[in-house]
Amino acid sequence: VDQLLVNLKEVREEIDRAARRAGRNPAEVQLVAVTKTVSADRIIPVVQEGVVHLGENRVQELTDKYPLLPGVKWHLIGHLQTNKVKYIIDKVHLIHSLDRWALAEELNKRAHTGGTINPLAVLVQVNVSGEASKFGLEPNLVPDFVKEAAALPGLRIMGLMTMAPYETDPERVRPVFRGLRLLAREVDRMGIPGVLMKHLSMGMSNDFPVAIEEGATIIRVGSSIFGART
Ligand SMILES: *Cc1c(COP(=O)(O)O)cnc(C)c1O
Repeated sequence: VDQLLVNLKEVREEIDRAARRAGRNPAEVQLVAVTKTVSADRIIPVVQEGVVHLGENRVQELTDKYPLLPGVKWHLIGHLQTNKVKYIIDKVHLIHSLDRWALAEELNKRAHTGGTINPLAVLVQVNVSGEASKFGLEPNLVPDFVKEAAALPGLRIMGLMTMAPYETDPERVRPVFRGLRLLAREVDRMGIPGVLMKHLSMGMSNDFPVAIEEGATIIRVGSSIFGART
């Protein structure tokens, strides 16, 4: 536990330094601690240090941990199957992985309960790097996708998310983060009603300082806090 808190302190200091280098307010950068494979007893001390935004990439793991960690704001950061939407709809603060039309429709459908609509906050996942192994829309498809998804009353589109390829030198992924920022600006300029390009979710343990320099408002950090996953 002590080591976790040391790690957390270092991550927070690194967030501060990166934000200041870029002339940004560190408070504009939301840390999401990625807790996949980490048990609740190791997560609790981190939550007690004020980290209330947690991310999981699998629905099952999120729903398992949900009752054990009250007060947490959960982020679903991994690929989401349409048949699992119903399990998380009332448990998530933000879904980072809207990456296809069928999922937009399912989320919209599930946001309608009884006669009312509880709009779901989502980010559109973009495959900026073009790696075949990554989920996410091709960048050139994003403006039209956002326009169409914005017409669904059950969705509130809050920004964009991307995963950069792993590089030992994180400088090499700067163009990926910059690409996401420029794409968000392009979408912003379209002035689509109801669309708020408030968030750029980008940067993980290996590369979050560079992502912050490029404008990340949400970073998703796992192993730098909890140690390497086994
Ligand atoms: C696992 C994961 C992270 C965190 O990765 P680390 O390298 O452990 O910081 C971030 N984003 C997504 C989508 C992930 O699946």
